Amino acid sequence: MPEGDTVWNTARVLHRALAGARITGSDFRVPQLATTDLTGWTVRESASRGKHLLLRLDTPTGEHWSLHSHLRMDGAWRAYAPGERWSGRSAHLIRVVLRSPGAVAVGYHLHELTLVPTADEDHLVGHLGPDLLGPDWDPDEAVRRLAEHPEQTIGEALLDQRNLAGVGNLYKCEVLFLRGVSPWTPVGGVPDLPGLVALAQRLLAANRGRWTQSSTGSLHRGQTSYVYGRRAQPCRRCGTAIRKEELGERVTYWCPVCQPERPAPPPAG
Ligand SMILES: [Zn+2]
Repeated sequence: MPEGDTVWNTARVLHRALAGARITGSDFRVPQLATTDLTGWTVRESASRGKHLLLRLDTPTGEHWSLHSHLRMDGAWRAYAPGERWSGRSAHLIRVVLRSPGAVAVGYHLHELTLVPTADEDHLVGHLGPDLLGPDWDPDEAVRRLAEHPEQTIGEALLDQRNLAGVGNLYKCEVLFLRGVSPWTPVGGVPDLPGLVALAQRLLAANRGRWTQSSTGSLHRGQTSYVYGRRAQPCRRCGTAIRKEELGERVTYWCPVCQPERPAPPPAG
């Protein structure tokens, strides 16, 4: 599941494959960019912002542009050596191919593929809250944004990228389990919001640099999560059957015993 750590890893793969390279051929397979040709452009860098990817390029005349993409649930970028077989996904999922002398980058099932002047990146990612894996990560600002909507459920608030950028459904479920907080708890009723935010950041950071996402510390198949994807299986702490229900637009997993629901505190004064 592409969450902040996966997107961070992907940005690093693209950076290693393409940074400094001149594009020798591009092939966009989306209508909005069908006539775009990046041949002769140079890749400056690849960066992630929450779950958004930004491939920054210079035109031959030195203008700065950014190729933006979003992986959502199923997108991926792969880098191949020239001549290597493209083994990542089915060919019909390819949305863009970028060729350079040293590597070929292939984007599969990408969403929101857009090319904008780098100066306009904010139109695409300016609404995002602090990036959990960004160089400018600001936990106080993330807590402040979350606390602005005390009546919202914490399960929905953690997925709202305007509060903090990078948490997806997996880490949301896992962080709430680890903190013993029901996903239905209103933000205002969460006992230690800064502690919860700090744990979310640590979990994502710990999973940087590898593709297997784990919140338990185990990388063995079937043992990487406490609650996510474990409906009806016994809680690893108390043995109660893990539950799965819809919450907002997403499903959520939780242990009803380890994560009791807490009411919101009465309004102050
Ligand atoms: Zn439990």
